[in-house]
Amino acid sequence: MNEKVRVEKSGTIILPNHDRYDEKRKVWNARIDRRPAVIFECKSEADVISAVNYARQGDLEISIRGGGHHIDGTAVCDGGVMIDLSNMKDVKVDENRKVAVVEGGATLADVDAETQKYGLATPTGTVSETGIAGLALGGGFGYLRGKYGLTCDNIVSARMVTADGKAITVNKDNYPDLYWAICGGGGNFGVVTSFEFQLYPVGPNVLGIDVMYDYRDLKQILHGLKEYMKSAIDEISVNLAIMQLPPAPFLPEALHNKRVVSLSGMYIGELNREIEENVIEPLVSFAEPIMDQTGILPYVELQKKLDAMIDVAPFDGTSLFFEDLPEDAISTLMNAIENADLPMTLVQIWALHGKMNRIPADEKAFSIRDAGYLLLVDAIVPEDNPQKCRDWVNQLHKDLLPHSLRESAYVNGARIDANITESTYGNNYELLAKIKGKYDPDNLFCHNHNIAPKE
Ligand SMILES: Cc1cc2nc3c(=O)[nH]c(=O)nc-3n(C[C@H](O)[C@H](O)[C@H](O)COP(=O)(O)OP(=O)(O)OC[C@H]3O[C@@H](n4cnc5c(N)ncnc54)[C@H](O)[C@@H]3O)c2cc1C
Repeated sequence: MNEKVRVEKSGTIILPNHDRYDEKRKVWNARIDRRPAVIFECKSEADVISAVNYARQGDLEISIRGGGHHIDGTAVCDGGVMIDLSNMKDVKVDENRKVAVVEGGATLADVDAETQKYGLATPTGTVSETGIAGLALGGGFGYLRGKYGLTCDNIVSARMVTADGKAITVNKDNYPDLYWAICGGGGNFGVVTSFEFQLYPVGPNVLGIDVMYDYRDLKQILHGLKEYMKSAIDEISVNLAIMQLPPAPFLPEALHNKRVVSLSGMYIGELNREIEENVIEPLVSFAEPIMDQTGILPYVELQKKLDAMIDVAPFDGTSLFFEDLPEDAISTLMNAIENADLPMTLVQIWALHGKMNRIPADEKAFSIRDAGYLLLVDAIVPEDNPQKCRDWVNQLHKDLLPHSLRESAYVNGARIDANITESTYGNNYELLAKIKGKYDPDNLFCHNHNIAPKE
């Protein structure tokens, strides 16, 4: 260890011979097996400063672990410094300012649990175990996106440690360039030790949409969805997931191993007959449902409903945005799903509309404001033939690319790839590169969808 670096006492330094080293370097994706030189298990901002200074002075790369859920395991690096924030999970609500002050290692569940005590919520994601930091910095698509935008649209301010080891507060008045960059630009610019998120009255109960259709009706369902989205109101959100159900005990036996289309979403407005007829019923009648569990439930429960569906396993995956879903793209997708010789595939199509798409593309680093759909593809990697999975994902990505929106992807759901990063940030990339050059010229924070620093 570099003698000149003073390390604060509150955190723990974990070296490869530490008995918790293997546990701490694990991330959600079991495919990832990387060995950092040192893990700083931080408990305070001072610990984070020490970790950044240690890395910079030792010329080591940094990876940052919020909730450890990125598909490419960017939270953990080989041979560098891993800054682990999983002990910094505090969430406090400022009721007067309607903001939540959230530490950088909190999960969505931590945020929802505290904010709902006040009948408030900020837009997050759909699986409560995910980390809020990575999700917010790269976008943040949840059920509130139509009404209140993405998570990155609701960052009011952030407390950050930059590459020079300084702790600063970043908002629209303080370091406005950095504030613009972190609203979608990922973990490129420093370690966020805490965020302030805008809160809105939500719940305590909401209407959870939960319909299951037979896969054979997929085309009909997609046509119905496309028609529906032409006039969808902001209060509704709709996500489709195409998957083969596991033979799990919590599912009726008739559904074991069946390929289905699951439609889930949330409605957060007043319920009355008109809404039921015009907004809810069409969603449950795209085809003949095989199961319909649509109903009123607490917001926090809906936010956890999908947790059980996604197990820890070795995953590979990719993502693309689309303006529309042309017939050719649908056929390509169906062909890939039906011919995947893999243990499990999960293909999701999320409809995008409302507030998140009304924000100008250059207002924040997150620039995809004209997509109608987000495609997320995940597949379990077979132990005996990992390449087979990689080939399947790559081929699908390549085949769908010509139909996509400017070849852009959701950085939080896509493997690290410089082409994806550049095409996704589009016209915002140049400015992001300049801001990166100003705050992290040596690219210390490089384990992410990396923006190359520019002078
Ligand atoms: C099961 C599952 C469900 C998901 N559901 C959704 C969803 O509904 N909606 C959605 O939008 N996305 C979803 N995602 C994708 C999710 O947004 C990404 O996985 C995101 O990276 C999760 O954040 P994390 O903090 O857990 O990630 P980590 O893997 O910890 O971090 C990813 C990257 O974010 C950056 N980062 C993390 N923490 C910090 C910090 N404190 N300061 C600076 N940089 C930081 C770093 O660059 C890091 O490499 C899901 C992913 C999974 C695995």
